[in-house]
Amino acid sequence: MKYCPKCHLSYNDDANICTQCGNQLFVAAPQVPVRPLTDHTAEFQKEDVSANKVLAMLPYIMGWIGIIVTLLAAGTSPYAGFHVRQALKIQVCTTLVSIIGAIIPFLGWLAIAVFGVMALVINIICFFSVCKGEAKEPPIINSLGFLK
Ligand SMILES: [Zn+2]
Repeated sequence: MKYCPKCHLSYNDDANICTQCGNQLFVAAPQVPVRPLTDHTAEFQKEDVSANKVLAMLPYIMGWIGIIVTLLAAGTSPYAGFHVRQALKIQVCTTLVSIIGAIIPFLGWLAIAVFGVMALVINIICFFSVCKGEAKEPPIINSLGFLK
C-alpha cells in the first residue's frame, strides 16, 4: 500500500504518482497502536503486577509512610518501584506547595487548600489505576516536567 503525503489518499503498490495532485507516493508506514506516553503498563510483567499490586497501592493511600513501607517490602519489584516514584512526585509537589504557600498569607494558603484537594483526587485516580493493574503516570503532576 502507498499513500500521498498531501491528500492522504491510499493507492496500490503499483501506483507511483497521486492522481489528485501529482505528488510522489510513499509506502504506507505500518500502523502502530497508539499508546499514551504516560501509560507504562506494557513495560511490566503480569506476575510482577499481580504479586505487588497491594504494595503498589500503599504509596497513594498512605503518603510518605506508604512510600517507605513499599520501598522496604517490594523494593526489587519494578512495578511497585514505578508507583513509589509516581507517589513520590505527588508527595514532593504537595510538600513544596505547602512550604511555599505557608510563606504567602491568604493566596498561598488558598493554593495549599486547592493543591491538597487536587493531590487527593490524583492519588485516588492512581489508586484505581493500580487496582486495574495499570502503570500510568499521575495526571497534572507528570506535566510539571521534573522528577522523571
Ligand atoms: Zn495527492
